[in-house]
Amino acid sequence: MTRRSIFWFRRDLRLADNPALLAAIAESDEIIPVFILDDGIAERAGEFRRAYLASSLRELDASLDQRLHVYSGDAVSVLKSLMKRYGATSLHVAADFAPYGVARDRRVEESGIELTRTGSNYAVSPGRVRKSDDSPYRVFTPFFRAWVNHSWRAPVLAPAQIHTVTAQKSDRNFPKWESVRPLQSAGEAAALSRWGTFQESGLESYDQGRNYPARQGTSRLSPHLRWGEIHPRTLLANLGNSEAEQTFRKEIAWREFYADVLHHNPHTSRDYYTPRFATMAYDPPGENFAAWCEGRTGFPFVDAAMRQLLREGWMHNRARMVVASFLVKDLHIEWQHGANFFMKYLIDNDVASNSHGWQWTAGCGTDASPYFRIFNPIEQGKRFDPQGDYIRDYIPELSHLSSVQIHEPWLLDEALVGKYPRPIINHATERVEALARLAAIKEVRPGS
Ligand code: FAD
Repeated sequence: MTRRSIFWFRRDLRLADNPALLAAIAESDEIIPVFILDDGIAERAGEFRRAYLASSLRELDASLDQRLHVYSGDAVSVLKSLMKRYGATSLHVAADFAPYGVARDRRVEESGIELTRTGSNYAVSPGRVRKSDDSPYRVFTPFFRAWVNHSWRAPVLAPAQIHTVTAQKSDRNFPKWESVRPLQSAGEAAALSRWGTFQESGLESYDQGRNYPARQGTSRLSPHLRWGEIHPRTLLANLGNSEAEQTFRKEIAWREFYADVLHHNPHTSRDYYTPRFATMAYDPPGENFAAWCEGRTGFPFVDAAMRQLLREGWMHNRARMVVASFLVKDLHIEWQHGANFFMKYLIDNDVASNSHGWQWTAGCGTDASPYFRIFNPIEQGKRFDPQGDYIRDYIPELSHLSSVQIHEPWLLDEALVGKYPRPIINHATERVEALARLAAIKEVRPGS
């Protein structure tokens, strides 16, 4: 009798270095490769995010000889009917640690379907790295040391052969989301190629280059990691010990740290890691929030960053920190509003890195930069975009200004600045206001 296993792709849209796929192949004669689109995704995701996923699914399908089964709807009913139809004896997955995935998998298991989990989307799965008293880490640097000591397995090869069942037309419900072309190619081959190029021409100068948004100084591997088109183990296996490589390893570890923190504190995807910040006075997300979202705050570095997000579905890390700080500390709007906006538009949207990136910047997360350290949006622009090239790329209205003029257009004659808005707030005033709001919650004890 033919033994069949379902392999359920989720955040691991690749064939190489995929131990869960190998486990499925090892115990069956034929695989049914499946991807299930969540019903709500079309509403939650912006067009770049949708286009990226659609393109990634097409790439995966091509590497499976057009045999990927794609459905949309409720995972439990799709899987139940597939198990029955194919007489599948097992269902293999890589473990998902995000709160949404955990809840979905729990529902699948409660329906009587057994999930065989092998590996995860992390070099070291969340929950594994612990202090000597078995408690989780709350601070990055000791986590990083323990994570390096814990170590990880070497990458595994792609399966030599995969016997897959043929998909019928009705099994191939690919989303028709290619309304925009993602600026970054999706899929496993693109991920490996980007990693190869970055090793040849970006990694060496990563230490200096990574802070300047106008340069191609970072790997832009985040969407590939988000969808598991490449495994972090594959990246770590190629890293040596130069300064730049050590820094890059640390950045990979931040992703793993945040996943670990979220695993131990699932409520922090939406709630405060440091609860007393929930009691601080915030402003409702009105006109100023709309200006922030649309990149028309009148602060060129902030607006360039938000327009990059809207135009590309991606934003440079330095810019993410600056716009997040601006929303929380200059506009006094709660971090969750910004985090939701990011999740909708980012092609690398990752709940752990996003919610904790926001909370770190807002001063209420793990290892947070202290709340009183407030980014100055003008100085950040001058320092990390000294020539103004990043601003020029995304704000054509200002592209004729010199590198000195471009960071403070409100100092210039109106005729030179045209329609570009005046600043919606005064940074110095709002800085004082942010500190006053902080002082008001200082009396409340941490953890209360
Ligand atoms: P590189 O500099 O080349 O780094 C390599 C990889 O390391 C990244 O792909 C990423 O996986 C990881 N990494 C780097 N920096 C961080 C970091 N600070 N935190 C966690 N992982 C990191 N990253 C996401 O992947 N998804 C998100 O939704 C997300 N939201 C963020 C929101 C805010 C407010 C902030 C401040 C940061 C956020 N980050 C997020 C982290 C970081 O900005 C991106 O991972 C990085 O910009 C991706 O670009 P890259 O691949 O070129 O990074």
